[in-house]
Amino acid sequence: MATSLLHVPPPQSLLQPLAVPERLLLGPGPSNVPPRILAAGGQQLLGHMHPEVLQVMDEIKVGIQYAFQTQNRLTLAISGTGHCAMEAALLNLVERGDTALVAVNGLWGQRAADIARRLGANVHELVKPPGEYFALWDIEEVSASRSAGQRVQASPGDCHLPLCFMQGLAQHKPSVLFITHGESSTGVLQPLEGLGELCHRHGCLLLVDAVASLGGAPIFMDQQEIDVLYSGSQKVLNAPPGSAPISFSERAREKMLRRKMKPPSFYLDMGWLANYWGCDGEPRRYHHTAPINSFFSLREGLAMLVELGLESSWERHRANCTQLCQGLRDLGLELFVKEEKARLPTITTVRVPEGYDWKEITAFLMDNHAIEIAGGLGPSVGKVLRIGLMGCNSTSDNVDRVLHALRDALGCCRRSRL
Ligand code: PMP
Repeated sequence: MATSLLHVPPPQSLLQPLAVPERLLLGPGPSNVPPRILAAGGQQLLGHMHPEVLQVMDEIKVGIQYAFQTQNRLTLAISGTGHCAMEAALLNLVERGDTALVAVNGLWGQRAADIARRLGANVHELVKPPGEYFALWDIEEVSASRSAGQRVQASPGDCHLPLCFMQGLAQHKPSVLFITHGESSTGVLQPLEGLGELCHRHGCLLLVDAVASLGGAPIFMDQQEIDVLYSGSQKVLNAPPGSAPISFSERAREKMLRRKMKPPSFYLDMGWLANYWGCDGEPRRYHHTAPINSFFSLREGLAMLVELGLESSWERHRANCTQLCQGLRDLGLELFVKEEKARLPTITTVRVPEGYDWKEITAFLMDNHAIEIAGGLGPSVGKVLRIGLMGCNSTSDNVDRVLHALRDALGCCRRSRL
């Protein structure tokens, strides 16, 4: 009789072939990976210190410099997703006791505030209702805003929201300001013009999250005086998730050099990463085993953006977003972001139509059309549907496909409260 020392039997599911269905990913990310990028990620491995891999890393660096429009030496890709870059940005710049100001108009500000608090910073939040963006005066001085956070008894229009007064850069004197360029939970594009200069006038560094907007909407790291900018691989760059472009200005680098304590993470310590990425002029030393195949994919994603050109990419996203918005209006849906110029070209939000359950709509699209769109996230849960058109997925054909599927859904889904 066969005996075994194993107490855990082989899992039956792993004895079946891997099953990956075909889907059109038109949610807020990831987006579909085109064959060229898939092929790059499927190449045979090389060693993480082989000259060919270091060469690919150098190509990624110049690709990021182009995508970010920056000359910063300290430009590289984090081995991790967008959250990893967000943590890298904050934990290298913020020390215990520092003051951080965080602009919160959706999920990403909330997450950044959480991370900064974990680092022991004194965090102040500037809060705007989901769907709105910040003007320069909201950030600089005391401003009044209706906070959607705590509802009071109903009164007409927006006035049921309590008026709250927030203090800005001038009062809190933070060492960093965090803001999200493409608020993917609400579909808002944050204007950045003049913000870097304003921050610097107040002795503050500007950290910007461009995970959902890079390549889809103009951003100019150097001209806009952004001190830390990061993004992700799985949105407009059409690579699989797992690597995240990031760059630090000279001001940010100097602040890191003045730190009293080492950053609280070895993996994300920018001193080590700068060396591994050849940004410090020293011989490169092993820091971690880079996700080499993810870097191959990211390199191709950046190469495709370079070939297309940033301006053409911005224009393609703008045009397809405009076509989508018009089609959504024609279906009788209400766009969540009122001002056209504040709409994120990569992710469009519409209010969940009266009487429908958003989960039924997203499930209907998935089951009947193999199309992913998403419901809300964080403060927009239950309020919106989110449709993403990013990188190669931003095409007029995909706009038609998702509009057709939505029309079908609106006809077929139960109007639950009617
Ligand atoms: N910031 C924004 C604006 C995002 O849209 C996302 C991803 N949805 C993230 C950060 C986090 O990225 P990841 O899921 O790759 O960790």
